[in-house]
Amino acid sequence: MTGPMNLFESVNRQFDEAADLLDLSQELRELLRTPYREITVAMPIRMEDGTLKVFKGYRVQHNGVRGPQKGGLRFHPDLSLDDVRALASLNTWKTAVVNIPFGGAKGCIQCDPSKLSPHELEMLTRRYISKISMVLGPTRDIISPDLNTNAQTMAWVMDEYGRKNGHQPACVTGKPLELGGSQGREAATGKGVALCTREAWTRVLGRDLKGARVILQGFGNVGGHGARFLHELGARVVAVADLGGAVRRTEGLDIPALLAHARQNRGTVAGFPGGEAFDPADLWDQAGDILIPAALGGVLTEATAPRVKASLIVEGANAPTTPGADRILRERDILVIPDILANAGGATVSYFEWVQNLQHVFWNEAEIFEKEEKILLQAFREVEEQVRRHRCSWRTGALVLALERVRKANELRGW
Ligand code: NAD
Repeated sequence: MTGPMNLFESVNRQFDEAADLLDLSQELRELLRTPYREITVAMPIRMEDGTLKVFKGYRVQHNGVRGPQKGGLRFHPDLSLDDVRALASLNTWKTAVVNIPFGGAKGCIQCDPSKLSPHELEMLTRRYISKISMVLGPTRDIISPDLNTNAQTMAWVMDEYGRKNGHQPACVTGKPLELGGSQGREAATGKGVALCTREAWTRVLGRDLKGARVILQGFGNVGGHGARFLHELGARVVAVADLGGAVRRTEGLDIPALLAHARQNRGTVAGFPGGEAFDPADLWDQAGDILIPAALGGVLTEATAPRVKASLIVEGANAPTTPGADRILRERDILVIPDILANAGGATVSYFEWVQNLQHVFWNEAEIFEKEEKILLQAFREVEEQVRRHRCSWRTGALVLALERVRKANELRGW
């Protein structure tokens, strides 16, 4: 799923480019690259058909010098430990880019959620949390939703953690509102993707967002909300692909109608009557201005990058671009706004949820979005400044900013 180079190697290669610019010593590189703690657990589950199945789960805590480690929990059938390491380290850099007081972690339960009943998924989530709860908690490691997990999953996480540790909603973010979730958390990542798209397209590239053609891979939490905000900003979403199929319409898809269709059809855009169906594998060849990968990692490769027609790529997904593809996109002068900036809205509002839980206060959606925008625009400008200073890519600029912050915190705390 991650191509010939594994995801951790590929993230570390990006890390090295930034480390070179900062002239970081080998010792420091090793320290900052190496995950702090890695846990593998086995979860035996009695399935509804009576059989016993053993599932595997991982939690990697990458770095916690700037605060409790924070990261998503994902259900996925073939994510490796190295993939989880890579995603955990990206979270360290992401929280540092937006300057929120968290480190980076990531977790995965190896399973295909489409083949499990809600009861089986609940049992699996509870087993996983019960096995790793000793390293979780509001001051240690905070779980949030990710690929294939949602507010319901986070409710199970909170409940299971609470069995041993008492009621502590700040141990998990992305919870339902009824259980201390935050207004705006669900839409936060998509909102941030839309904000970064607006900034990059209008301010950096000097173009008009009205009528700009957007192509999307993934129409879940990130892609769906991202499409909604971009549609509201006047962009035209002309093609969307997901696991079930793909639809396109040159004049722009009716996004509210497409969202309603997906809600009624197990989350997929397939079968949408307001557009023409096409093969999702042809997504990369579609004509458009802005491409937003918002599904899996490793999809922009040396094979797909040359096919891209857009002049801006905004990474909604984590690690969608391989280093080989990055090189091709740079040569082709396609601007890439990296994941650790573009999709940091989710981490930012997770931080707001944590703050609200700890202080027993609640902010409304307008307050949340206003605070999110302030943080993201600040980070966007700070990355832009690094890009100017070092004449580097936006990915390297974001990593330089993050590495500096993590290195400094490490130095102040000591070893
Ligand atoms: P989701 O499960 O809500 O949606 C995933 C979408 O991707 C679905 O539309 C699915 O059909 C599609 N998809 C899955 N496999 C695909 C394939 N092989 N080809 C085409 N489409 C495919 O997940 P999400 O929360 O929207 O996360 C999407 C990405 O964004 C992930 O990389 C995740 O790590 C990243 N991310 C999510 C958040 C968040 O707050 N949810 C925050 C930061 C980054």
